[in-house]
Amino acid sequence: MKRWTPGGALKKSSGRAANQLLADLSHSDYRRVSPHLQSITLAFAAVLTERNALVGHVYFPTSGLIALHTATIGRPSLAMVGSEGMVGSSVAAGVAKSEALVVVQGEGAAMRLHARRFRLLVERSPTLQRQIHRHTVDLLRRASQTAVCNDVHRTEARLARCLLETSDRAGTRYLRVTQEQLAHLIGARRSSVSIVATSMRHRRLISYARGHLRITDRKGLRRLACACYRAEWLSRR
Ligand SMILES: [Zn+2]
Repeated sequence: MKRWTPGGALKKSSGRAANQLLADLSHSDYRRVSPHLQSITLAFAAVLTERNALVGHVYFPTSGLIALHTATIGRPSLAMVGSEGMVGSSVAAGVAKSEALVVVQGEGAAMRLHARRFRLLVERSPTLQRQIHRHTVDLLRRASQTAVCNDVHRTEARLARCLLETSDRAGTRYLRVTQEQLAHLIGARRSSVSIVATSMRHRRLISYARGHLRITDRKGLRRLACACYRAEWLSRR
C-alpha cells in the first residue's frame, strides 16, 4: 500500500498501487472497478473538465498533478490533487456538473473512469464508498486547516508548506507553477509571493525562472514551513 509521506511520493510505482484511493479498495471491489479503468497520459496544461460542464470522467492520478480552479465569493482559488486522491468525487453524490476548471498542472498519468459508471460502482462497492467518504472528509479537513493557516501563519511559512505539499503530491521536486497560482494556493497577494520567492531563491531553497520551480533544499524548506505541514503529514500516517 502506498502512503503519502513527505518526500515519500517521490518513489515511482505503477498500476493500482500508484493511486492511494484505488490501493485501499478491497480485492473484490477493485476487481469490480478495474475493467472500467482506462489508463491515460496527463499532458501539461490539458483541460480535463471545463467549469460548469458535465463531468465526463473522474480521475485517479498515478503520477503528476491535477489543478482545480474554482472561485469562492468572486475570489479565485486553487487546489491540487495528486496520487493521494481523485478528481470528480462529487459525482458520487449526484452532482453532474463541475464547479471547477480541471487542468493538468504536472504531467504524469492517471486512471480514468466514466462518470456514470463511477456512480453505479460506488453504489455497489462498499470500500469504494468508504474511500469516497474518507476523501470528502479529508478535503473538508484540508480546507479548514488551510483557512486557519492563511489567517494566522506568515506568508513565507505558508509558501514553504505549500511548495512541500505540492511537491509531495506531484511526486517531484520540479513544479511548473506561476507566482499567481502560488498566490491563489496560499491566499496571498502575488506581490507578497514574489518577495518571499525571491528571498527563498537567494537562500538557495528553491530555483525559479519563468514558471519553472525546483526545490533545491528540502530540509531548509521544512524548517521554514509552518506547523500545518507536519500536522498534514501526521494525519496521513
Ligand atoms: Zn500553517
